[in-house]
Amino acid sequence: MASVTLKGIGKTYSGNVVAVTDFNMEIQDKEFIVLVGPSGCGKSTTLRMIAGLEEITTGSLYIDDKLVNDVPPKDRDIAMVFQNYALYPHMTVFENMSFGLKIKKTHRDEIKRRVLEAAKILEIEGLLKRKPSALSGGQRQRVALGRAIVRNPKVFLLDEPLSNLDAKLRTTMRAELSKLHQSLQTTFVYVTHDQTEAMTMGTRIVVMKDGFVQQIAPPQELFDKPSNLFVATFMGTPQMNVSKATLLDIDGVSWLQFGEGTDKARVALPQWKGRKPEVLEYIGRSVIFGIRPNDIHGEEEYIKAHPDSAVDAKVEFIEHLGAESNVFLKIAGAEFASVVDSRVKIPSNAAVSFAFDTDMIHVFDPDTEETITN
Ligand code: ADP
Repeated sequence: MASVTLKGIGKTYSGNVVAVTDFNMEIQDKEFIVLVGPSGCGKSTTLRMIAGLEEITTGSLYIDDKLVNDVPPKDRDIAMVFQNYALYPHMTVFENMSFGLKIKKTHRDEIKRRVLEAAKILEIEGLLKRKPSALSGGQRQRVALGRAIVRNPKVFLLDEPLSNLDAKLRTTMRAELSKLHQSLQTTFVYVTHDQTEAMTMGTRIVVMKDGFVQQIAPPQELFDKPSNLFVATFMGTPQMNVSKATLLDIDGVSWLQFGEGTDKARVALPQWKGRKPEVLEYIGRSVIFGIRPNDIHGEEEYIKAHPDSAVDAKVEFIEHLGAESNVFLKIAGAEFASVVDSRVKIPSNAAVSFAFDTDMIHVFDPDTEETITN
């Protein structure tokens, strides 16, 4: 059990490749932190610096209150689980799991006790005599986790541990990792490029881009209050709809007007959002706005009740997913996706009305792409 503190952490690889810049965060004991972002944004480098596998170029790293910049990996009391599992092929599952403890000269009885305990947690007691080649991908992943658990580390570091598994197994393992975190009551730092993994497992999520932290927040807050356009569009599937617009003031109401040429649409922002001083500064100017597909409604009652946010739309095509359908729309020349309950009948290839839930609209500065509505 431990806290991890990153103060101004940066990493420059040889050849002047800047991988991470000014990373600041206090990870509390027992948190499940997920670092998420597109490939190359510096997630693994950050994790590897915490592990001690990569030298820190600038800043200070503390585990609990101890400065560990120059402490070798084996003395940091952390365990790392890799994407490729890194199991020894010639050893049995039992030997793989006990290897680290054997090197530390742990007593034989203690090794057996800890391996059996971890195997029980992971439900792999029946596999202890097998070699990795006789295991499925999911089972290998469990062994890799088991090898980390037996060491009873202060911090678990996991680098894309589910990316070699098929989609169904990933979903199961997501839930299992969350349960494992709860039962171990240990600090987890987890790297993934998959925003669904981040949303489902993290107690807090760190979104990174180009080596810079974009936002650190619990999953729901990140989803509801993204600090910039990148976070807004990176988190959430289907992706948030984004469009350029002009902010207008009509009789004391702020409207977003968007579309090409004469084909224009507009929706009124609610007073609490549209009349904020920060938003009023943008009246008469270009902005970018975003709205999630679930916040564009096709139900008749909703549209009737919200005339100021109803727009004419043309249904381009519909993707039926069972409970829900993705409806792809053209509104004032721009493309929008809406997610509606499949029981709502939407005529395809037809001109219809849709309504925006304007409480859920996000408005961004067109230059900085920072939010102006949170
Ligand atoms: P992520 O884990 O988010 O995909 P990484 O941390 O692996 O990103 O990489 C961040 C940046 O650092 C990338 O531009 C990558 O090419 C670069 N990088 C990673 N490892 C090295 C290395 N050993 N030498 C030089 N550049 C590296």
